[in-house]
Order: sequence, then structure tokens, then C-alpha cells
Amino acid sequence: MGKEKETESVDFIRAIINRDLGNGKNDRRVHTRFPPEPNGYLHIGHAKSICLNSGIARQYNGKFNLRFDDTNPAREETEYVESILEDVRWLGADWEDRLFYASDYFNKLHEYAVKLIKDGKAYVDDLMADEIREYRGTLTEPGRESPYRNRTVEENLDLFEKMRAGEFPDGSLTLRAKIDMASGNINMRDPVMYRIKHAEHHRTGNKWCIYPSYDWTHGQSDSIEGITHSICTVEFEDHRPLYDWFLDQLEVHHPQQIEFAPLNLTYTVLSKRKLRQLVEEGHVSGWDDPRMPTIGGLRRRGYTAEAILDFCDRIGVAKRDSVVDIALLEHCLREELNRSAMRVMAVLKPLKVIIDNYPDDTVEELEAINNPEDESAGTRMVPFSREIYIEQDDFREDPPKKFFRLAPGREVRLKHAYFITCDRVVTDEKTGEITELHCTYDPKSRGGASPDGRKVKGTLHWVSAAHAIDTEVRLYDYLFGKEDPLVTDGNADFTSNLNPDSLEVLTSCKVEPSLAESKPGDRFQFLRHGYFCVDSVDSKKGKLFFNRTVSLRDSWAKIEKKK
Ligand code: ATP
Ligand code: MG
Repeated sequence: MGKEKETESVDFIRAIINRDLGNGKNDRRVHTRFPPEPNGYLHIGHAKSICLNSGIARQYNGKFNLRFDDTNPAREETEYVESILEDVRWLGADWEDRLFYASDYFNKLHEYAVKLIKDGKAYVDDLMADEIREYRGTLTEPGRESPYRNRTVEENLDLFEKMRAGEFPDGSLTLRAKIDMASGNINMRDPVMYRIKHAEHHRTGNKWCIYPSYDWTHGQSDSIEGITHSICTVEFEDHRPLYDWFLDQLEVHHPQQIEFAPLNLTYTVLSKRKLRQLVEEGHVSGWDDPRMPTIGGLRRRGYTAEAILDFCDRIGVAKRDSVVDIALLEHCLREELNRSAMRVMAVLKPLKVIIDNYPDDTVEELEAINNPEDESAGTRMVPFSREIYIEQDDFREDPPKKFFRLAPGREVRLKHAYFITCDRVVTDEKTGEITELHCTYDPKSRGGASPDGRKVKGTLHWVSAAHAIDTEVRLYDYLFGKEDPLVTDGNADFTSNLNPDSLEVLTSCKVEPSLAESKPGDRFQFLRHGYFCVDSVDSKKGKLFFNRTVSLRDSWAKIEKKK
């Protein structure tokens, strides 16, 4: 997976690892993990974390774990677990036999909690959630100690056991760490370790009615798995003292938490909560809608794992927050598809052309190059006949200056085929709409070569009418019309920035017959239109649907050139 950078420069995380290896820390082991909460589908931001963690493990001959952070029974579903497994696998990250669940550690965490109680470092609190909040204080004011903070060890052990046994209703008691209510860091003001929640868990069923908090679970899970470098996003920086405190009290293996800046992308929201809102409110067709920044959406759109890995490689990793131009992601994709995608002809808005001097009963097979960037891709034969389709936009009855395509009396080249000249335009008497063109061809221009050195300015793609396959094509644009979708007018929700033109469906498209055998997920360049892939959800035998993966215009390459 991915290419290791050949440059000497190392990012700040690898610098820390190099230093640790130099000092012989962790017996010179490197062990990372990716810890998703199964409460939604993974997005391109998670891909950055997956590439970073699994890339480091591979680079240092270390290990990489996949661990579901499944501590919240209410929000988590098996559907999410399955999709996450598929996505991480698709990105090429290999957890080998190390697939774990935080819920695997519920017994161990319970044991650890009992130890902290016995050491006088945790207590059962009767304060309700809103009271805990009130007692916690603010950034400028210290918190107040709970009146229940000084219970005896025996009383705490007894109450905690009764909590576990299900003797109390939801929310009535919590187990809290006894740290420092006056700490400048609010996370250290006696954080909650356990809450009562009588809820069924997707893995542990009804075994537990107390569930551990994220902070209590995360570091201990890292420790149990022997993780050496626990890499996470910067919002956890303020939690690091707590991460360290728990491990120090327990005197167990102590991984180092390292924070990096999360990926932000223009025209994109990357938050599972917001992505879920888009799904639940029906703004998109599902988590894998091809406009979604989820791994599943990108895959269905036609993205390759290689392009995503290349992107993650190029953006690198830093501590400071930044926003990446989505044009870079598209650039990585274009570069790859330019190398790998077969060029084919597809007419999205067809206009019939009849070649009057072409024999009625003849079909010629003309040779077409599959990929000029890759000679080994070879050639294929494309049928040509008297009636063909061209793009409506490739004809103008009254052409403006610089329009070099077909017009009355004008000659153009049909790609791989012949020169044709437009003689006559047929219009619908009632609507005035152009219904067909009558042309003549030059038999001496076979293959599209000029017979006598005369030049034509336009080259058009086409498909033979009798051989074309009818398909539906979806043209996608950014889901949001604003570079930063979270900036809204007044109190408006971010959905007010949805781009109303993010999807255009074209139902009467014609593609060349070589595509008949294409399979879901296959990618092509439709000449002059962009890269497309066969939709993997809607396509079935006999009816193909194509998604536009990305257009041909590379705005990133232009930005690079200007630099
Ligand atoms: P979201 O904020 O989208 O809901 P999350 O952080 O709650 O995501 P988790 O399942 O907890 O989702 O994330 C798993 C891992 O992915 C965490 O280590 C988290 O730091 C990392 N991660 C999440 N979002 C990004 C991002 N935009 N860029 C890089 N890493 C991310
Ligand atoms: Mg999270």
C-alpha cells in the first residue's frame, strides 16, 4: 500500500518514532492502531488516519491493529462495523489477525476500575449529569467537589458492584476518577469513568448495564494491545494528561499519545454526525451516495484506493490545522485514471447524423486505440455505419467565432473514422428543434487521416446508431456550493449550502458496444467528457448506469503551473 516517500524529510510523528527507536524505548517495537467508533461510515479524513497508522507500521516493520471503539451501545450498529471492515481492507491496510473491539476489554476495564477504587482514586457519585456539569466549573472558574467524593473504599466498592449488578436506573450513579476539581484542565476534574445504561450492546448483549467512557476506555485498550504510539487528532490534545494519568495510576504499559491535525477539505463536510444528518434527511441516497466523502461513496463514484493513498501521501501530516483543496484529491485521481482508464466513445446528449453517401447495408469495423498513455492496452474495433449519433453540443446551425465543431457546410473529423461534411439540417416543424443532420463522408479519409493534406479543425466522438447501447449517466458536482460548507447565513444549518446542481441525470445516453460486457466498478474515459465508472449498485445485466467520476479539467495542475 502506498509508496514510501523517497525524500529525507520526515514528519514530526516519524521524528518522534525515530527518536524512540534510537533510545531503545518499547524494546524498539512500533505498534499502531486505527480506532473507529462504529457509529457511521468512514470518510476521507479517516483514510488519512488509516494511511498514517498502517503506513508507519509497515515502514518500521511494526504492527497495525484495527480496533472498534464500541463503548456506546445506543449509537452503534453492526452495519457500520461491516462497512468499516470493508473500507479499511479496500484501502489496503492489513491488520492481519489483530481485529479487536474495545468491548473485548470490558472485563479488564472493570477490574482496573476496581483497582482504582481500592487505591482511593475513583468514587461512586450520586450527582446527576446536569449537576456534574454544574459542579465542573468553567475554563476560568475551578470546579467544586461532589458531596459524595469522600465515600469510603468499602462503600464505593459496594455501590459500584450494585451498579454493575443492575440495581440502579439509568443515569442515577456514575463512577468518577478522583483527580483534581481545581485543575486548569477541565478533563482532569474528576472525569466520569462509567455510566449506567440498561441497553443491549451489539457484541456483549445484556451482560453489562454500565458502560465505560471514551477516556477511560481508550488508553487502557491501547495499553492492553501493546500499542507504542497512539496517534489521534488534535481535539484529544487536552485529554492527553488524563490518558497519561490513568496509565500511571494503573502502572501498566504506557503508549505515547501523539496528536495531528485532522484533514479538512474544501466543499466537503467531514463529520460523521453531519454525514448521518445528510443521509437521514434524504439529501443524498445513502452513506455511499457517489457525492459523499465517505470511502464507500468515493469508491462508488469511481475513486481507486491508489488515488486516495497517493493523496494521503501528498498532504502529509502536521500539527497545525489546515484546509486541503479538493482539486488536489481530484488531481491524484486523474493522474491515475489517465494512466489506467481505457478511452471509449459515449454520446451523452445524442443528435442523429445520417451519412447519405455511405452504403445502407455496410458496417465497417474501425480500429481504435485504447489508451494513448499505455501502448500495452492495445486497440479495439468500433463499428461504423450510415447512421450515427454525435453530441448535440457539437453542432451549431449558426456557429459563433472559435466554434470549430460541425456546422452547415463545414467539415470535421469523426474520431477513428472519416471526415464528414454537413449538408442539411432537419428540424421539427412544430418545435424548431434540430432532429437530424444529413452529411456526406470522404471515403478516402478512412481512420480519420486527411487524404490530401487538407485540414479540419474539429474532431468529434460518435457512436453507430444501430450498435450503440442505451445507458443512463449521472453527472456529479460538489455536494456543497460553498468552499466552507459550515459557514452559513444567520442561523441557517449547513444543509442550506447544499449545491442544488450536484446531480444531473442524463437518461438517453448512447455508448459504444464494446462497453456491453463491462462490470460494476469498471472505469473508462469517455472521450472529451471525463472519467466514468459503471455504478455498482444500480447496474444490472442489460442495463448499465455510469457515474461521472471526475471531469477532464484539472484545476490543480493549473494551480501548480502558476506557482
Ligand atoms: P467524526 O469527527 O467524523 O465523527 P470521529 O473522530 O468521531 O469522526 P472516530 O471513529 O472516533 O470518528 O475516528 C477514528 C479515528 O479517525 C480517530 O483516531 C480520529 O482521530 C481519526 N479521524 C477522524 N476524523 C479525521 C480527519 N478528518 N482527519 C484525520 N483523522 C481523522
Ligand atoms: Mg471520535
